[in-house]
Amino acid sequence: MPMIWLEPKYVYVDGVLKENTAVLMSATDGTGKIVSVGRRGHDDLASFPLPQSALLPGFVNAHSHAFQRGLRGWAQHSAPGVEDSFWTWREAMYALAHHLDPDAMEAISTLAFAEMLKAGFTTVGEFHYVHHQPDGTPYADRDELAMRVVHAARRVGMRIVLLRVAYGRAGWRQEPNPRQARFIDKHPDLVIASWERLRALGVDVGVAPHSVRACSADWLRTLSRVPSIVHAHVAEQPAEVEQCLAEHHKRPLEVLADAGLLSDRFTAVHLTHPDAAELELLHQSAANVCACPTTELDLGDGFFPAWQVTAPVCLGTDSHASIDPFAEMRGLEWHSRAVLGRRNVTPHAGMDGLAAALIDRGTRNGMRALGLEGGAIQAGGPADMIAIDLRRIEFAASRLLPALVFNGSAAAVTDVWVGGRHVVKEGHIPGGEALALEAERAIRRLAIHA
Ligand SMILES: [Zn+2]
Repeated sequence: MPMIWLEPKYVYVDGVLKENTAVLMSATDGTGKIVSVGRRGHDDLASFPLPQSALLPGFVNAHSHAFQRGLRGWAQHSAPGVEDSFWTWREAMYALAHHLDPDAMEAISTLAFAEMLKAGFTTVGEFHYVHHQPDGTPYADRDELAMRVVHAARRVGMRIVLLRVAYGRAGWRQEPNPRQARFIDKHPDLVIASWERLRALGVDVGVAPHSVRACSADWLRTLSRVPSIVHAHVAEQPAEVEQCLAEHHKRPLEVLADAGLLSDRFTAVHLTHPDAAELELLHQSAANVCACPTTELDLGDGFFPAWQVTAPVCLGTDSHASIDPFAEMRGLEWHSRAVLGRRNVTPHAGMDGLAAALIDRGTRNGMRALGLEGGAIQAGGPADMIAIDLRRIEFAASRLLPALVFNGSAAAVTDVWVGGRHVVKEGHIPGGEALALEAERAIRRLAIHA
């Protein structure tokens, strides 16, 4: 297996852009680790020069529903006389979910993962909840759609953790919704069995009670037996919190805590409407929070009060209204500023400290939430890295690290390595046009948006 040096202008290490630093990778086939970070010695190993680039750790998209990429541009208008909200958007999303067949699921997911790689994400936590045929009958292979999504990531070389969703009901005292038939399992043991099968197939897999709306307290307790990371949507919309209070006389994080789910293995996705007691629970349990700033803006969810928590916060692109790690990083900070009427809110020290704190949220905190090692350029970690083109005009005459975070974009990412495999080259995914065409054909064939 060939070892190879990357030799950029700068390498991002521990909050600092270092010069005269090279990175040695152990392999280029997707299994590569970082062997050393430092001055290059004399050797005969191959090297990849990047004289105009900054090398950063790959970003982590800790919360994704890949198939929702198929809604891009189709839900950015309202029907006459309709006041749009999260709930009207959800109907459009359900219509898409209803039409998908396995080929379309794979094609659209592949497109989403390709776009993520190109934007600088190297790992995705895929919150996967479409499991069955449209009438709710399981596929002959019960994990057909989950494995299609995993295969989609492998096709383009993205590191994936599949978060196998548990969805038990429409909601407390709510009639079953036929639009949710594909999501629903009859019993939480079936979810655990799926988790076990996927793990046996070599998939990195976690378990994901969809929300306290979709899982009863019994389901949550049963799922707490699974020895893995746990992700759940928590308090994304006020209506969910109200339903939770009506059913349990407790708030969502309190219900999850009662079920034994809150720990450092747990990630609360969104948490846009917590109260003080929930924030205290979060603090005590060392659980993670995944904020999805661009989706939360797009859906009008509200905003996670990042300035009130000490919990490790990571980032996700959720519905893929936008796929750009830079937009998520600065979105977290800018949202806080807009709410508080202050500047530079995320705790930090020094001129580059805020940028470094936001990069942590986009990298190592995401790996932690997904139960993986990595998220930094350091020896022993996975060789997941991205190169940013410093010749771009938006970086000229700037303090570089803050400019990368506050002015960077997916378009500035030129090269991406996942496990040492060079998956984005000079801004292009090999075969990317064919992947885009395949997804377009799938959407047309199913007449999803007719
Ligand atoms: Zn979500």
